Amino acid sequence: MSSGFATRALHGTGPASEETFSPLRTPIHDTVAFGFDSAQSIADAFAGRIPRHSYSRISNPTVAEFEKRVQQLADSLGVVALSSGMAAIANLIMTLAGAGTNIVASRFLFGNTTSLLTHTLEPWGLETRFVDMTRPEQVAAAIDHNTRAVFLESITNPQLEVADLAAIAAISHAKGVPLILDNTAPTFYLCRGQDFGVDIEVVSSTKYISGGGTSVGGLIIDHGLFDWTKSPRLASRAAKFGPFALLATLRREANRNLGACLSPHAAYLQTLGLETMPLRIDRSCASTLALAEFLRNLPQVQSVNYPGLTDHPAHALAERQFGGRYGGILTFDLASQEDCFTFIDRLHLIRRATNINDNKSLALHPASTIFNEFTQAEQEILGIRPTMIRLSVGLEEIGDLQNDLEQALIS
Ligand SMILES: *Cc1c(COP(=O)(O)O)cnc(C)c1O
Repeated sequence: MSSGFATRALHGTGPASEETFSPLRTPIHDTVAFGFDSAQSIADAFAGRIPRHSYSRISNPTVAEFEKRVQQLADSLGVVALSSGMAAIANLIMTLAGAGTNIVASRFLFGNTTSLLTHTLEPWGLETRFVDMTRPEQVAAAIDHNTRAVFLESITNPQLEVADLAAIAAISHAKGVPLILDNTAPTFYLCRGQDFGVDIEVVSSTKYISGGGTSVGGLIIDHGLFDWTKSPRLASRAAKFGPFALLATLRREANRNLGACLSPHAAYLQTLGLETMPLRIDRSCASTLALAEFLRNLPQVQSVNYPGLTDHPAHALAERQFGGRYGGILTFDLASQEDCFTFIDRLHLIRRATNINDNKSLALHPASTIFNEFTQAEQEILGIRPTMIRLSVGLEEIGDLQNDLEQALIS
């Protein structure tokens, strides 16, 4: 029996083609729902008896392909991709902790992470204890039986502080608490968190992974090292899912209920970025080191901060943890805030923008932008000086970057 025009417009004249064309790129599965053959198969999928995609807020083939590629590259147990780095951090903390518990975190964090912990989650009853991660004894003193995680960043931004991951992991594990590393700055390419005892990594895939600054995304990477029966919110799931308790809870609870899913299109762009990420990181790190050495020889520059410089306080530690590369961000100080503004205004090639680890080089005055809501006294505690410029080094020719910096500094 032939269908009417509107029905044919919706469904075509038969079932969708199952033919595959061996594309070299994963297709963008831009669909919300997936069809099933029978009532039993949809029931089996909902009960988790068969692994099938049913609804793209929970899982999607293009997003799953991105997760699988990251899981393999990071050599991890499993990965959940989310709509942003902030979504990854928020979903992870909300899965592990709750009212009446606490998180021990670095005093130097990405600004929005500090705001998440203090402004968003504290009213829900979660306490955050901020400590100096370069003094592991402070971590030990802050942990109590209500601590649900220890949280720090591999290279803090913009202070560029590097803490001893193995020392902090040893303390966390002795107290039965998982260690979370925000590994956005070096990524799992330069820093294999699990080698230092990191249990879970979060990465903003907006940065080096997307590369071209094409899309916002975030990753939660579980290395499978932590015994989830020791984490009170996950203990009952651990009985059923074993090492997959966190991943299952993220998928079935946080991802599903909070809804911060990565879009298939963003997953496509970020899978594309992942393919060239190591090449871009190599070049960006080499150029950043070269520019750090170049800048420190210019008379207008008061000081340069970069862990790749041999006199940086954490140089040896950074070398050990990141395999001799030190990331794509440096900061330097000029004589005054006015000099910083003049310098930024004179840049021709380097863009004035707030992102980091873009293919394009970017410069920013942190005190008047990212940290503008903080008083000068608070900024001082956070290591933010009014004389400081942050430079995120991209992939341009090094000579062109040097020329731009030099011409912008001529007074
Ligand atoms: C950018 C960034 C985030 C947040 O990531 P979004 O993708 O912008 O949400 C978190 N942590 C660090 C270290 C970052 O640089």
